[in-house]
Amino acid sequence: MHDVVIIGAGVIGCAIAREVSRYKLRVLVLDQASDVCEGTSKANSGIIHAGYDATPGTRKAHYNVRGNPLVYQWAQELSVPCQNNTSLVLAFSETDLPRIDALIERGQQNGVTGLRKVSREEVLDREPLVNPAIAGALLAETGGIVSPYGLTIALAEHAAVNGVEFRLNCQVQALAHQTDLDGGQTNFIIETSQGPVQARAIVNAAGVFADRLHNTLSQDTLTITARRGEYWMLDKRIGAQFCATLFQLPTDKGKGILVTPTVEQTLILGPTSDPVPDKMDTRTTAAKLEEILEAAAQTWPGLRKDSFITSFSGLRAHLAEGDFRVGRVPDVPGYYLAAGIESPGLTAAPAIAIDLAELIATDFNLALKPEFLSPPPPIPGFSLKQLADPDELDNLAAEIARDPAMGRMVCRCEQVTEAQIRAAIRRPVGARTLDGIKRRTRANMGRCQGGFCTPRILEILAEELGCDSTDLTKSGGQSRILTGQLGVEA
Ligand SMILES: Cc1cc2nc3c(=O)[nH]c(=O)nc-3n(C[C@H](O)[C@H](O)[C@H](O)COP(=O)(O)OP(=O)(O)OC[C@H]3O[C@@H](n4cnc5c(N)ncnc54)[C@H](O)[C@@H]3O)c2cc1C
Repeated sequence: MHDVVIIGAGVIGCAIAREVSRYKLRVLVLDQASDVCEGTSKANSGIIHAGYDATPGTRKAHYNVRGNPLVYQWAQELSVPCQNNTSLVLAFSETDLPRIDALIERGQQNGVTGLRKVSREEVLDREPLVNPAIAGALLAETGGIVSPYGLTIALAEHAAVNGVEFRLNCQVQALAHQTDLDGGQTNFIIETSQGPVQARAIVNAAGVFADRLHNTLSQDTLTITARRGEYWMLDKRIGAQFCATLFQLPTDKGKGILVTPTVEQTLILGPTSDPVPDKMDTRTTAAKLEEILEAAAQTWPGLRKDSFITSFSGLRAHLAEGDFRVGRVPDVPGYYLAAGIESPGLTAAPAIAIDLAELIATDFNLALKPEFLSPPPPIPGFSLKQLADPDELDNLAAEIARDPAMGRMVCRCEQVTEAQIRAAIRRPVGARTLDGIKRRTRANMGRCQGGFCTPRILEILAEELGCDSTDLTKSGGQSRILTGQLGVEA
């Protein structure tokens, strides 16, 4: 019997896992995917939202504003790439300026600090590539960017170091609860693709699928619609030319099309917002990608179609009521919910996790562990800058002498060595797929998108996992990369 079973290993499930791992508990995280962070948490804008956009009084506003400083704090604790690059919301005409005032007022109602209206000149001084025809902007000092998969994976690793078990490729198919004959404790039976699991408490953090599971347990049913957001990603050469995240004024469909550097200095344009009936449908479409280009060109008129390296999309888990649902579920004691966690869910994750862990600790009268272990140190990196600094070069030479794999470059676009790839596989909750390597090391994420390094990564994965390279997948399931081997004559 597990004390707590968390369904979903996205940023919400992993943040909750890390927070409950502070207590004396047997915790299990289940995910149907082949890795943590295979759902929405891997495909979003990576913005640490300031909190001026959410409607005052909503859970979105509350958790956004509380979560903002916590993301910076957690990213530092976990060595996750993160930057307080600020956000600008652009007004393209004088008639839009009152909407900037309204956003500032809304932000102040939400308790956001560091908001002010800035002139056209100040915007262009900060961001010379922005459309010179703008009338002014809102500057949000607390806006930032973070690696969404970096944060999610680091949370999972830290939870694992503190005793949390992760069971992947494990789909939850049905939930049931039963109460002891004496009317006392409630236990849950969780039917999964790997057999039944029992738990004293369940946390449903299943993203776009949270409603399906929830509605089998509670009378208070939920409806979640998947709203797809598509993006373009541009090369680092371009990302380095921008500093702040550039928003347009929000619409009733969301925060609008943004132009933002990522922590890795690529640039992303997007997202769109369209409901899709299939909750696994993460396609990108020519029509929506064209729509993004048109809208983004208003922010950045110099936008050209070279330097595009890929496109991707993520699915927002939109609850019919339009707000997050977080907390106890009154008709099912021992069952906790984090549902409808669309944007700003990445920013809100730490605050949601702290609240849920405290609720569970109160309800089950839990004691903290005497020691909460530190997160594992980050995978040692390698940068071209090291080659230019004689001291750094000596250190590097010493490291390569100790571990020759540190000197064997596998991904040239992102400078990822064999040692880093092996380390990513050997870590707690280590990589088992090509995408798992990609999100832990950035190999496959550069300009060539894996064109050169994929065969070598597959060889290393097969060696480390003791399997045949034809068994390996891009991201689990049937996503095999190789269908067989060509015979080579001696
Ligand atoms: C286009 C877009 C842009 C966004 N931009 C931002 C942003 O800039 N800043 C911000 O703060 N937020 C942003 N968000 C929101 C943020 O990405 C989400 O709030 C967050 O990632 C949700 O995390 P999650 O853990 O709830 O969901 P997920 O990451 O989807 O995790 C849910 C997990 O549950 C698993 N699962 C589902 N069903 C089952 C089952 N039956 N059995 C086992 N496992 C199951 C899935 O495999 C998945 O891994 C954006 C979202 C989108 C879509």
